[in-house]
Amino acid sequence: LFIALEGIDGSGKSTQTKLLTEQLTSQGHKVYSTFEPTDNPIGKLIRNILKGNTKADHRIIAGLFVADRLDHLLNEENGIVKKLEEGFTVITDRYCFSSYAYQGTHMSMDWVIQANSMSADILRPDINIFIDVAPETSIQRLHANRDNIELFETLDNLKLVRAKYMEAFEKLKAVEHIVIVDGNRSPDLIAKDIWQQVQSMMVQ
Ligand code: C5P
Repeated sequence: LFIALEGIDGSGKSTQTKLLTEQLTSQGHKVYSTFEPTDNPIGKLIRNILKGNTKADHRIIAGLFVADRLDHLLNEENGIVKKLEEGFTVITDRYCFSSYAYQGTHMSMDWVIQANSMSADILRPDINIFIDVAPETSIQRLHANRDNIELFETLDNLKLVRAKYMEAFEKLKAVEHIVIVDGNRSPDLIAKDIWQQVQSMMVQ
């Protein structure tokens, strides 16, 4: 089973990735929990660019995210494809929809979908779970929790990213399995919803 968790910054994705990993592990599943941008060299370069340390055109950034995902999928040591073959349940904190949403704030949605098709065609998640949090709530969380506010973390940008997620969901709903959960609740209620969704995938 390949699960992607998606959401705007401050939506609680990393908390939910952790809770879902614990839940699956406690049920005896082998879980590989991972994230994008990755910790591999391309992911590190991306983080540098996002911090503003290195300048790059938005088309280059989009291309780097695709390259990072290809490594995320195909890496011979810890690639998602290999992990799935080894029987792991894979949970990724961000995948293709993050590219559609974030890179889609700079380039047209069709351009971004086309650019990412190379990776999407290799592997689509069995389920994309979008934790839907009001941008007003997430910006409050971000300001409360972080010293370092990154590139996209202003209210207007979070609203735009959320709108781009919705645009991508609408465009790709025929080929992707997308579930939206209400993220404006306590972490354990959100985790319950996510668990229910994941369980329904496992009995199929
Ligand atoms: O999820 P996390 O906070 O680690 O993501 C790091 C940053 O990378 C996010 O703040 C987001 O702005 C950015 N990002 C992006 N394009 C993606 C994925 C993440 O711009 N495809």
